[in-house]
Amino acid sequence: MDASSLLGLIPGTGARRLPGLKELLASVETYLPSEQVARIREAADFGAAAHLGQKRLSGEPYISHPLAAAQILAELGLDADTIIAAILHDVIEDTKISREQIEESFGKDVAAIVDGVTKLHNIQFKSREEAQAESFRKMLLAMVRDLRVIIVKLADRTHNMRTIDSMSVQKRRKIARETLEIYAPVAERLGLYKIKLELEDLGFRALYPQRSRVIERALKRARGNQKEFLGKIEKTIKADLGRAGIKAEVQSREKHLYSVYRKMRHKKSMLAQVVDVYGLRILVDAPDTCYRTLGVVHAAFRPMPGRFKDYIAIPRSNGYQSLHTTLFGPNGVPLEVQIRTHDMHGVAESGIAAHWKYKAGTPTRGSGDSAQQERARAWVSNLMEMQGSGNPEEFIESVKVDLFPDKVYVFTPKGAILRLPRGATVVDFAYAVHTDVGNRCVAAKVDRRLTSLRTVLRNGQTVQIITAMGASPNPSWVSFVATAKARSAIRQYLKSLQRSEAVELGTQLLNAALAEFQLSVDRLDPQALAQTLKELGLKDKEELLRQIGLGERMAPLVARRLLPDAADGAPRSAPLTVAGTEGLLVTYARCCHPIPDDPIIAFLSTGRGIVIHRDTCANVEDYHKHPDKWQPVVWQQDVSRYFSSEVRVEAMNKVGMLAAISAAIASTGTNIGHATVERRDGDISLITLEVEVKDRKHLARIVRTIRKMPEVLRVARTHPPRRTS
Ligand code: MN
Repeated sequence: MDASSLLGLIPGTGARRLPGLKELLASVETYLPSEQVARIREAADFGAAAHLGQKRLSGEPYISHPLAAAQILAELGLDADTIIAAILHDVIEDTKISREQIEESFGKDVAAIVDGVTKLHNIQFKSREEAQAESFRKMLLAMVRDLRVIIVKLADRTHNMRTIDSMSVQKRRKIARETLEIYAPVAERLGLYKIKLELEDLGFRALYPQRSRVIERALKRARGNQKEFLGKIEKTIKADLGRAGIKAEVQSREKHLYSVYRKMRHKKSMLAQVVDVYGLRILVDAPDTCYRTLGVVHAAFRPMPGRFKDYIAIPRSNGYQSLHTTLFGPNGVPLEVQIRTHDMHGVAESGIAAHWKYKAGTPTRGSGDSAQQERARAWVSNLMEMQGSGNPEEFIESVKVDLFPDKVYVFTPKGAILRLPRGATVVDFAYAVHTDVGNRCVAAKVDRRLTSLRTVLRNGQTVQIITAMGASPNPSWVSFVATAKARSAIRQYLKSLQRSEAVELGTQLLNAALAEFQLSVDRLDPQALAQTLKELGLKDKEELLRQIGLGERMAPLVARRLLPDAADGAPRSAPLTVAGTEGLLVTYARCCHPIPDDPIIAFLSTGRGIVIHRDTCANVEDYHKHPDKWQPVVWQQDVSRYFSSEVRVEAMNKVGMLAAISAAIASTGTNIGHATVERRDGDISLITLEVEVKDRKHLARIVRTIRKMPEVLRVARTHPPRRTS
């Protein structure tokens, strides 16, 4: 079905009859070339046909809603694809139209945005806890490839909030809360200030009708009282600016319901105190004029000490730029003044949306949009300068990475969100749901597709764990899980295994590993077995199998030892004992920092002696490709030197944090090789420390000491690089 055959379903639907279409077309005509306007008109017809017969709760035809959402974005000057996606945003969810059909008629970008909005729609917002709201906001931003998905979603939400009165009281409260906790902060993060303010006021009104009425009345009264007064001040300032040769636009600033309410709560101030503050905004044409304007204003009224902020030199993280100052107005009433350029004002109102504003670089239109183009360019280049990145796409990515450095947000089939560390696998997810689910998981569906248990999860995926009665954890999981919870649960389970079960499991694992060499546990070379047992200090085969079953030894490594001399053409050798004092011929890998007590293996590098790795290190994978290059090694009983190891600490950002941690480490009698500190989003620092330790016990002592510090959120030894297969 294409657009035209759909149109055939509704004879006589003149485009002009669709509620809101006339206004929408009038808006987009002011900045889009005619062929883009034609596409938008076509999308409106397509959407109207798809939603034909559906009504909103208010009784209006359904299409009025997406058209109104599109109108909100047209007012921000967004490109045609975004407008079209807004018009079609409910089509996949609520009609029989598929993503493919949208792609056919309106292109890939539009289809991808609509699909993204549909996915967001299926996410439920459950918990009222701030922590959950916070991860939800981050997740929203993290999971979408194209931030226009969020922009369309915000427009959708804005219109739903405008028409919230037709909903039941209960639904109203839920949606209003969600709007205040999730969507308004997201709009703010993206610099969509106008949308943020509207969402806040509408959300506040719906959630607290009484309180908002009181504040609204007070604001109205104050506005009446202030009008004349503000008029006078405006005149004074304008005249002063004129004498200084500055051309400026002076506006009085409206106060917003929710921000008044928030101020009252935060600063514990009385309503009158918050309301009786005058707000002025002065718009000029160049950044240096802002500073001259500030001088003029400070000469006219005395500035309040400590209230001046220079967001031009140091913009906010969402790109906002302005000078802020507070003056003692006539009668000592505080007067809050914002000074910025017209360009900065554009960014302040529409933030990241400026990035997708229609750019008239195409030959279809003249230079009429150059101001807009200029503004968009200014905004992007501003932010890129802040971020030090090369192009807009990179910038968007960096915003995202900046927001969620080391977490992935995934869903249960019911829509609950789980936050896992980056690199977490399906098994980690299963254990995060519940230990029993982890212990009994046998397979999983990720986004409805069957996947292996070691699959690394990505943002926004929905994970369904398939469990089986009587299933049990596989010791090999320990080598790829990323969370401590999964690892300790697996170990715990394995420990609790009966001896006989462990032997049986070990037999299976070893058989699997031996199969590669056409061998099995029952057909081992007796000499090789006796030799191996002797080397490992084990009394019999059963003991070896039990250790494998309990995850204490890796089956593939044991299998390799059990090969008879001639097998594989590789010369078999007894494990080398390392004491750390061998000198230049034995080195320790920088990728995984092995220390005594770690299970290790050595790589024979021609001409450079051997390099010791931890046997869980990804680089050991090479083992399979070049078995002759690897050599079993064990630690000597008493190693008397120090080895470097790495510890990662997540701690609150505080002055002197690194010094405090260093002091704590020093108190355990440990040297620190070097340390790096990375600032993360929010108030968290990631500190990586290289420490000199004797063995794993020593390292554990350091970790325990750091963990006790109140500002420390997390501390762990750095994982070796993970295996990829
Ligand atoms: Mn909608």
